[in-house]
Amino acid sequence: MSLRLQFWGTRGSIPSPGAKTVRYGGNTPCLELRTESGRLIILDAGTGIRELGRSLIDRANGAPIRGDIFLTHAHWDHIQGFPFFAPIFQRGNHFLVWGSKTLERSIDTVLRDQFSPVVFPVSFEQLDATIDFSEIAAGEQRENDGYVVEAFGVRHPGGALGYRFHEPGAPERALVYISDNELGSGGAYGGPADWKEQLIGFARGARVLIHDTTYTTEEYDHHRGWGHSTYADGVELAIAAQAETLVLFHHEPRRTDEEIDRRVEECRALVHARGARVQVLAAAEGLTLTI
Ligand SMILES: [Zn+2]
Ligand SMILES: [Zn+2]
Repeated sequence: MSLRLQFWGTRGSIPSPGAKTVRYGGNTPCLELRTESGRLIILDAGTGIRELGRSLIDRANGAPIRGDIFLTHAHWDHIQGFPFFAPIFQRGNHFLVWGSKTLERSIDTVLRDQFSPVVFPVSFEQLDATIDFSEIAAGEQRENDGYVVEAFGVRHPGGALGYRFHEPGAPERALVYISDNELGSGGAYGGPADWKEQLIGFARGARVLIHDTTYTTEEYDHHRGWGHSTYADGVELAIAAQAETLVLFHHEPRRTDEEIDRRVEECRALVHARGARVQVLAAAEGLTLTI
């Protein structure tokens, strides 16, 4: 039994194509997760979902495509690829979109608004696939066909969820996905006083912990309250939670491939200096991991 993960979009905030971002990729967040039983789970619908859609159609060979799409929140970089996800234009396909219960507007409304004629030429009603919506609340756990998912409310403007996935009967092989989250002290998120202990508990023992590492420590000083974390804070969380592998994620749009290489080395040095044993990787388009 194992979960298989592939990265299709790794960049935060806005797509950043170009020669200097080719290796780690310029598409905004999208991950493909497969259970042993073949169930498709998509995490976020940033611009990476466009290429994922093409790949799913190729692999399906005409068979219907079904899957669950879990959105962490509805900021542009996590939903902007959805209208370009080709499987939604094919009859017989079925997607269930999961979003947070605590958004100001429901995820259903936000996604439908992306198809308003002011901003997009095709209406939601013209989509050929069946698209259903479901809400999950922070602290809630669900068992669906072939996997268990748990949601956690993170520190991000407007609210966002982190997700923990594992297969039934194998809680020790967990993936924790926290795309946007401010571990630093900036911002007023109104959570409980022990939010950090709760977060460490949520991520505890994850085989793979994917976490927001948007900023350097210097950059963070100018972006307190913007809802993102530093490399050092990401490493400290992974150490505290005793995660096996930390995947640096939500790369800052200006971050070049060479700079990300250097940041990975710095994070590994920090892990070593702390006497810990967390493996550190940077999320890259095309990277696959078995959990
Ligand atoms: Zn984001
Ligand atoms: Zn965001």
